[in-house]
Amino acid sequence: MRSITSMIPQPKNRNIIGPNVDLAARAQLGREALQQCRLCPRDCGVDRSHGRQGAFCRLDARAWVYKELLSLGEEAAIGPTMLVDLGGCSLRCLFCSEWQNVAHPQQYGAVELDGAWLAARMAKRKAQGAKTVSFVGGDPTPSLPAVLHALTQCREHLPIVWNCNGLIGDPAAALLNGLVATWIIDLKFGNPQCAERLAGVRSLDYAQQIERSFQLAQQTRPVGDLPVLVVRHLLMPGHEMCCTAPVLQGLAARLPAPAQVNLMTGYVPPQQTMNVRKHKELQDWNNAADIARTVDLARSLLGARLLVDGAPPPPVC
Ligand code: SF4
Repeated sequence: MRSITSMIPQPKNRNIIGPNVDLAARAQLGREALQQCRLCPRDCGVDRSHGRQGAFCRLDARAWVYKELLSLGEEAAIGPTMLVDLGGCSLRCLFCSEWQNVAHPQQYGAVELDGAWLAARMAKRKAQGAKTVSFVGGDPTPSLPAVLHALTQCREHLPIVWNCNGLIGDPAAALLNGLVATWIIDLKFGNPQCAERLAGVRSLDYAQQIERSFQLAQQTRPVGDLPVLVVRHLLMPGHEMCCTAPVLQGLAARLPAPAQVNLMTGYVPPQQTMNVRKHKELQDWNNAADIARTVDLARSLLGARLLVDGAPPPPVC
C-alpha cells in the first residue's frame, strides 16, 4: 500500500481549497486509507471500505451527521460557525454526553454525510453569517475520508475547524495538513491512569498523542484572524488536582502565545448510570468554589491565553 504521507499531491487548478490542497486528490487518498485503516492511533488496520467489522470507531466508509447548526456558542474567534456533529469516536469516555448519537448514529436519526447535502448547507450557513465550518463529534477523524469526499462537491467553502480529541494517526495528519484553519484539541486528562480508567485509552500513550496533535496544529499556516490552535479542557468533579492542574501547568509551559485555552466548567453528569456507577465522582457537578479556585489557577498560569467557557474570564475583583 502506498504511504499517504509521501503521496500528498502538488496543487492543481481544480477544486483547490487552500494553496496546497487539491481536494479531489486528497479524497482519493482518503478512500485508499480506508482499505487498511490507521487514521487514528487505534491502528485497527481493517478495511472499512467493505464494512465496519473490527473498526474501534464503529464506522465503515460512511460518515453520519447527527446534528448540524449555526452556532454562536463556540469560541468567539471561530464563530459564528457551522457545526457538523459526526458519529463515531476513537475514545470511550464514560462521561460522554452524546454516546447514543456517537455510537449508534443511524438508530438516532443521523443522516449520511453527502456532498450535495454539505454543499447546500454550507451555502446556506455562509449566507446566514457563518465564518467557519466546524467538524466535531464524537470525533471527526475517523470520518475524514467521507468529509473529504463531501467537500469535493462544495462550490463554496468556509475555513475548516477540526474539533477533535487529539488522536490523529499519520495518514490523517497528512490528509489534514494544509486543510485545517483552526485545530480545536480536547485535552481531557492530566495523567495516564485517568485516561485509562475513564476513556479506555489502554495501550495508547495519551500524552504523546496529544503532543503530536499540538505539533501538527503548530505547523498550520494562519488563515485571516483565526487562531490556529484552541485547546479545550473540561473541569470534571474530583479531577481538579489529578487532571486539571497538571493540564494547565503543562499548557502554560509549552503552548505558543497565540494559542488559546478554553477551560470549560459546565460538566454534566452522564445519564448512562450503568457506566458511571463505578466512578462516583462522575455523578457529581462542579461546585462554585472548585470552579473559582480553578479559574484563578488558570488565570495565573495562562494570562491572556485563557478563556472560560468560551469567553474571557471575569476580571479579578
Ligand atoms: S479510524 Fe481509528 S478506530 Fe476507526 S478503524 Fe481507523 S484506526 Fe480504527
